[in-house]
Amino acid sequence: MKVAVIGGGVVGLSATVALLRRGADVRCYEPGEPMGERSAGDTRIFRLAHADPDMVALAGESRALFVKWSEEAGAALIDEVGTVISGAEVGTWANAMAAAGAAHEMVEAGSPLLRLPARSFAGPALIDPAGGIIRVDRLRAFLVDAIGNRLLRVHVDAIEETGPGVRVTSGAKSSTFDAVVICAGAGTSALAAGVGIDTPSALEHHLRVSFPVRPGGPAPLQCWITEPADGVLGTYQHLAGPGLWAVGGDIDAALVTWEGGRQAAEQASLEAVTDYVAEHLPFVEPRPAGGIYCTHNPDLGDGLQFVRNGRVLAMYGENLMKFAPLLGEMLASACIDGSIPSDAGPGAEGASS
Ligand SMILES: Cc1cc2nc3c(=O)[nH]c(=O)nc-3n(C[C@H](O)[C@H](O)[C@H](O)COP(=O)(O)OP(=O)(O)OC[C@H]3O[C@@H](n4cnc5c(N)ncnc54)[C@H](O)[C@@H]3O)c2cc1C
Repeated sequence: MKVAVIGGGVVGLSATVALLRRGADVRCYEPGEPMGERSAGDTRIFRLAHADPDMVALAGESRALFVKWSEEAGAALIDEVGTVISGAEVGTWANAMAAAGAAHEMVEAGSPLLRLPARSFAGPALIDPAGGIIRVDRLRAFLVDAIGNRLLRVHVDAIEETGPGVRVTSGAKSSTFDAVVICAGAGTSALAAGVGIDTPSALEHHLRVSFPVRPGGPAPLQCWITEPADGVLGTYQHLAGPGLWAVGGDIDAALVTWEGGRQAAEQASLEAVTDYVAEHLPFVEPRPAGGIYCTHNPDLGDGLQFVRNGRVLAMYGENLMKFAPLLGEMLASACIDGSIPSDAGPGAEGASS
């Protein structure tokens, strides 16, 4: 079977690997650096913890696949430091973990089980011992190596259903495939619309900022997802490299609108997150030492959405890094047997057509 995967982010590369392993003749189209857009940077958070038991179970499947890939790569793709979720809503997350049979523990701030850069915070905390830091640097090297010369460094301008197959056009060149998978991140909605597939098109700006860790704090630091504090609607935080603590803050949506421009959004995010660090994280210096910018589709939350029209399958969602190996398997199977994987998480009902 001849398949085109559009997009060489973590989802497209994972789908390409899974298709290759099923014997498909695959080409992955990516004009930039592989994993250079929403999958950029060297680290992400892995967690089983979700507010929905189905998502916890799917994360468990993904984790088992990460373990397999780690064995193949000869290096751990997840640093097992654990992930902590804190705030008033964590009871719901704990119930979801219990329903999915996932190990977890509820504690209060000050518990000796916590290794966070703050001494106090709002609400109880849920410890997800299977969580940790996804080593995106190692994952990228593993996937790029597995794909080899199947990566075509070109931009896809259009996809079109024709009698014999699906035509993929890049500049003056076009090729016809038995099936196409669109996982082009911010480029998905424009490409998918051309074959009658509707996916979210609205975009927002987002910035994750890194700060130096002060010596003398707890170690190894756990990954941490928090609820609102002054100036931020919630944060995610984790080690981004030796001695570097990454903090991403959800801030007032009015400050990060697409129309407002990247520069203003980055400045507002930088200020809000730096103020948060100064106020709440005694073990982190409020001195920005780097950052990762990306676009994202607002209001998706955790969730995996799949939409098919004929021989073209599109996928979208947020926080997809932790699901990468599982998404690869789901997309490859569905691509080969012509099915649609079940959506999961918020908005799961009615997202497929
Ligand atoms: C700062 C930040 C922090 C995050 N934190 C976490 C986290 O802690 N845990 C987690 O699980 N997830 C996290 N995420 C989300 C996760 O990284 C993304 O959901 C995931 O990387 C998306 O991968 P993707 O392959 O869908 O998209 P991308 O990586 O954006 O890949 C899409 C690719 O498609 C290509 N493309 C677009 N249009 C075309 C076209 N017309 N032709 C050919 N190619 C095209 C682009 O060049 C791009 O490389 C975070 C994201 C960011 C940016």
